[in-house]
Amino acid sequence: MATMEWIAACREELYALREELHRCPELSHQEYRTSALIEKQLRAWGIPVLDFHLETGVVAKISGGHSGKLLVLREDIDALPIQENTGLPFSSQVSGVCHACGHDIHTTALLGAARLLSEHRDQLHGDVLLVFQCAEESFDGAASMLAHGIFSAQTPNAVVGFHCAPQLQVGKVEISAGIREASCDSLTLTVVGKGGHGAHPDECIDPVVMSAGLLMQLQTLVSRRNKATDPVVLTFGEIHGGSAPNVIPDQVLLRGTLRTFDNRVRMAHLAALEDLCTGFCRALGGTCTVTVEKSLPPLINSPDICQQLLTSAQTVLGEDCLGSESAPSMGSDDFSCMLEACGNHGAQYLVGTGLENDPATRMGLHVAENIFPSQAIEPAAATLVQFALDYLN
Ligand SMILES: [Zn+2]
Ligand SMILES: [Zn+2]
Repeated sequence: MATMEWIAACREELYALREELHRCPELSHQEYRTSALIEKQLRAWGIPVLDFHLETGVVAKISGGHSGKLLVLREDIDALPIQENTGLPFSSQVSGVCHACGHDIHTTALLGAARLLSEHRDQLHGDVLLVFQCAEESFDGAASMLAHGIFSAQTPNAVVGFHCAPQLQVGKVEISAGIREASCDSLTLTVVGKGGHGAHPDECIDPVVMSAGLLMQLQTLVSRRNKATDPVVLTFGEIHGGSAPNVIPDQVLLRGTLRTFDNRVRMAHLAALEDLCTGFCRALGGTCTVTVEKSLPPLINSPDICQQLLTSAQTVLGEDCLGSESAPSMGSDDFSCMLEACGNHGAQYLVGTGLENDPATRMGLHVAENIFPSQAIEPAAATLVQFALDYLN
């Protein structure tokens, strides 16, 4: 039976699963119910769940009937701190939390793919590791699962996964080789001076004025130090300092994000940023410490995997399934950490979730009103299954 027909045969079950996941969304690192539901389902289908002492997230393995490569299929399972406003009958029952990034579709499609691959494991020349990844939205789920050794027994030959794309029609995919998403480093700058009475700045070292100057200087890294052909974004979205208009505080915290398309550019900017922060604040009599956390490399898709993905997608979705190519994004996905751990061999592709006659399905990711239609599960699961069959065989 062809892959699409296999998937269609378990449509009702997958839609019901999706609705259950959608009703009970959980934030990053709190995906307890979601993980339990995934585990229960995998066990019901006879798919062995591996124990890596994970707090949340699930890893399972399908051992093929013949020896061969190890392929990782990875999808993320967490939700966002957004109040759902879709009007769906199976809307989130958790106040202020919803699946506004489509990760319930991701989870369900991977479950569907797991079921079908398991049923046909005798045909597989190699193994499939299923990674239901926690905490993508907080950018540290991939790193934490890798730290638990999910790839320690054997370095996988490749990792593949998809993300929902409201800008693409259901039934279409986007598969693009090369740079797709930016690196991301979360920065915390602690600017320390000496607090005191606002009437006597001469007796203080004012961290508010220091921070204001520093913030403007930091933008010159992008506009004056960086080569214009290398995209870089440096944004500070948080400033915390002070408690009264007439008191100079001891310190100010600035929190921001650095995005690049190239690890060399990224490292050069991190070094220059640290130099500027320390030097600038020292010149004004204060200090500045820089902390870098939750670092993600850029997401770069392998050309050979993309070529295979395209062939597999065309097998299940038809020759004209390829949507128009979008520009690489300065956004980030910690799929890039999984890629790096697989020797930079793999790809993340996009699966359309937009419906022509329903504008509510085309509003965008992280939008409270956006509807991800369940019909997108079938093309998503089918492409995962077909790719696994083609890649391993
Ligand atoms: Zn998201
Ligand atoms: Zn997402």
